Amino acid sequence: MNIANWLNEAGRRWPQRPALFEGARQIADYAEFARRARVRAEQLTLQHGVEPGDRVALFMKNCCEYLELFYAIWWAGAVAVPINCKLHNREAAWIVENAQARLMFTDDGQVFAQGELPGECRELAARCAVSQAKGLLPQLAVPVSRRADDLAWLFYTSGTTGRSKGVMLSHGNLMAMSLCYPLDVDQVDATDTALYAAPMSHGAGLYNFIHVRCGARHVVPDSRGFKADEVFGLARDLKQVSMFAAPTMVKRMVEQARRQGYDGEGIKSIVYGGAPMYVADLREAVEVFGPRLIQIYGQGESPMTVSALGRAAIADQHHPQWERLAASVGMAQSCVEIKVVDAQRQPVSTGTPGEIAVRGATVMHGYWRNEAATRETLVDGWLFTGDIGYLDADGCLTLTDRSRDVIISGGSNVYPREVEEVLATHPDVFEVCVVGEADAQWGESVVAFVVARDERSVDAHALTSWFVSRMASFKKPKKYVFCTELPKNSYGKVLKTELRTRLQQDRPAVAAT
Ligand code: AMP
Repeated sequence: MNIANWLNEAGRRWPQRPALFEGARQIADYAEFARRARVRAEQLTLQHGVEPGDRVALFMKNCCEYLELFYAIWWAGAVAVPINCKLHNREAAWIVENAQARLMFTDDGQVFAQGELPGECRELAARCAVSQAKGLLPQLAVPVSRRADDLAWLFYTSGTTGRSKGVMLSHGNLMAMSLCYPLDVDQVDATDTALYAAPMSHGAGLYNFIHVRCGARHVVPDSRGFKADEVFGLARDLKQVSMFAAPTMVKRMVEQARRQGYDGEGIKSIVYGGAPMYVADLREAVEVFGPRLIQIYGQGESPMTVSALGRAAIADQHHPQWERLAASVGMAQSCVEIKVVDAQRQPVSTGTPGEIAVRGATVMHGYWRNEAATRETLVDGWLFTGDIGYLDADGCLTLTDRSRDVIISGGSNVYPREVEEVLATHPDVFEVCVVGEADAQWGESVVAFVVARDERSVDAHALTSWFVSRMASFKKPKKYVFCTELPKNSYGKVLKTELRTRLQQDRPAVAAT
């Protein structure tokens, strides 16, 4: 089934329900949203010769047209290739070439230099007026028929450790993911407001489907990005706001809320994931926002759906198991099974860390034009995530790290995440990231990059005492590097590769202990 059927049906069932908002202003109801998708699908087909299966790239900031174009692309049976708007033109051009996209929609005013865009690909301005329905193509009165395993979305991974790969997600994958949301993440109804503060090319965009299915409202902030105070204002105005946020965004919301005495009014749910949320940060977020936080763990290859940790578990700070749960990523979502395996890909026992593998209806069909990576990652339907973690007896999954980030020091595994968790609890530490550095004696040694809280200072000696009073001494950082900020990619993930390179290249001012 074509996922665009959900919009077509919503347009018929609830034509007058409010659908699209720019800031607090409604710009379309569901009838209009569906009409625009259909008209744009006609334009794609008639004016640009787009055929089912063709790839159409979207390289622009969040906007309501993003949603219209998504559905137009699927309506016409084509495949959407959302590109993170913060990428450089050259990176975007690489993706367009890799995806062999026929068209690319960009923000008005953004122009690719001649020769920058590969092959036949043409650039079009996304934010143009949509003409009246012409109804020239009766075959597009409803979305083009698609099978569950037909390709819908080429999801380019954020590539924190190398070249981005195109994850092939089908209509069936997207539906399975969406149906897990009300079961495992949060219930949705027509009074809800999906707020797009994080890039639509990623998690925030993936959460549009269930909100279309339920006839809820979709709001793109005027800033077309993330500003904590803008989110609070929209939440107060529009109510019942749900949003996806990377942990760094949650952290900024917490700080801003504290500054202005905001208590979460109008926000229903903040679904966070995509990177580790440290227990110390989660504790603060719950203090400020109360029972509004929900965690998901997923990756492009099984979008937004490996596990989830529900609102009640996160909010109940007095539960005797709270620390364990808060440090975990919760339980498997309804449409996947999880196993943890050793280096030979054999299951390990409960509580033993190993690579996390996932199987189920959300798991990708492979990497676009990359057989070798597909063979390595997908075996018998199991997706090998490259994440290291362990399962408890109750099915609760805890992530320790990406396998390539584990530090092997003196023959022992040190999981950066656990070192980071301890340092993040220090009152003078704002952010921390731990990586391994080649070490003649130990193989690798532990290095912590630390950002101090505003106007505070912290030194290596204080951090070492803090650390050794809480965790095995062999895991303690051998070096601290103090910096004003951590390098992050445009999805807010810390770039460990860059930190490792910095260590190799700059030999930065380091306080060794
Ligand atoms: P991406 O495919 O860009 O969404 O990145 C997925 C990766 O982000 C996963 O493989 C994990 O390493 C990490 N990740 C996702 N969700 C979480 C989470 N809740 N906690 C910690 N790391 C996460």
